[in-house]
Amino acid sequence: MGLELSKSMPVLPDNETRGGSYFVANYPPFSFWSPEAIPSALEVLNEPPCPGTPLGLYVHIPFCRKRCHFCYFKVYTDKNSSEIRTYNHSLIEELALYSKLPIIGDRHLRFIYFGGGTPSYLSANQLLDLSAGLKKILPWDQAEEITFECEPGTLSEAKLQALREMGVTRLSLGVENFNDSLLELNGRAHRSGEIYRMYEYARQTGFPQINIDLIAGMLGETGDNWRHCIEETICLKPDSVTIYQMEIPFNTTIYREMKASGRMTAPVADWETKRRWVQQAFEALEQEGYAIGSAYTAVRNPGRVHFVYRDLLWHGADMIALGVASFGHLKGCHFQNVKDFADYISRIEAGSLPLQRACQLDEQERFIREFILQMKLGRISKYYFMEKFKIDIDSAYRETFDWMRNQGWLHQENGDLLLSRELLLQVDSILHHFFKACHQVQASEGRT
Ligand code: SF4
Repeated sequence: MGLELSKSMPVLPDNETRGGSYFVANYPPFSFWSPEAIPSALEVLNEPPCPGTPLGLYVHIPFCRKRCHFCYFKVYTDKNSSEIRTYNHSLIEELALYSKLPIIGDRHLRFIYFGGGTPSYLSANQLLDLSAGLKKILPWDQAEEITFECEPGTLSEAKLQALREMGVTRLSLGVENFNDSLLELNGRAHRSGEIYRMYEYARQTGFPQINIDLIAGMLGETGDNWRHCIEETICLKPDSVTIYQMEIPFNTTIYREMKASGRMTAPVADWETKRRWVQQAFEALEQEGYAIGSAYTAVRNPGRVHFVYRDLLWHGADMIALGVASFGHLKGCHFQNVKDFADYISRIEAGSLPLQRACQLDEQERFIREFILQMKLGRISKYYFMEKFKIDIDSAYRETFDWMRNQGWLHQENGDLLLSRELLLQVDSILHHFFKACHQVQASEGRT
């Protein structure tokens, strides 16, 4: 494969937190996905799958109690129960449309992920009805993991019981911070009392894995408070902890306020401080026996605790994505659904897949996508890329790797490349460098 890779060295962004996206969620960038690519993407759906490719399901629940000031997702805070019922019915109908396609055939689901928005905004009955409807079409009995994202203030004992009944194995709690004033300042709907109460219930309910999400660098964050957040997290003993560094994409309330007041710099900690905070958290968690599993995750028992969704997706799994604005990936093709609620419902009613845009990846783009996603794990197997893509990554990225080694950022261990902690904590800021030259757009494009 002739590779058209960038020859320039990576340039690290400013230390100040400015408006724009930092986190690299996918490749090629969303601005290269288009409605024009839908017809050829539909042809892919009418082909059989690549043998042996795992299949997962992503279910998007776009409802929230209120909009957080840092949120960049398309969320709805005004939908009534009848609209939610209609939406859930559409999700089931959408899966039924996929299930008839040759790309799905008689494949089994290996993982299921309920994301949002706030999936736990749904009532226990809505959740049981939705999961029963989805399971009837594609059974979950062979799924290794069912992840469910929760906002602590939307949970109750009865809802947690319903989630266990549904088969949820990995409960992910969007804690973000333990300080009530900070939660309020950032527009979060929950408070710390709900975190402690619901965590306790969730433990009693017996979920095999509980993850806690934190954000380093929320509005109002201080070194003392962050230390307190780490201590509280450690006391709860979650199976895994995910920490994101605060970014301020353009479609957030915080950015709109920055723009209105003519400020270029976001009113949150700079990148160096946020990295230092994540490093402090990782070190404290390591002292408690956790292992660092990616740029964002610490895991209490890596022999037992896995994140199947992430690991399969980052190694090229297929994933059906249901719901308004959601993203899927099937046989080397990205798909995104329409972003408007009414449009989504009416397209499903008309019996068609509600696609808004697509992007068909060539072989080189599939390689780059997996390579940059696996960089986020901090360990890259040279053997894996040689086996799957027949690419020697040492030759493909020789000059960049030399430069990274000179910085002390890259090491070799038994045929794997290991990223230093310093690089891992800022990995998203260098991933653009590994894109094809034609895809090296600003890191600032909107994501929703
Ligand atoms: S809970 Fe999550 S999805 Fe909902 S508004 Fe807040 S950040 Fe956005």
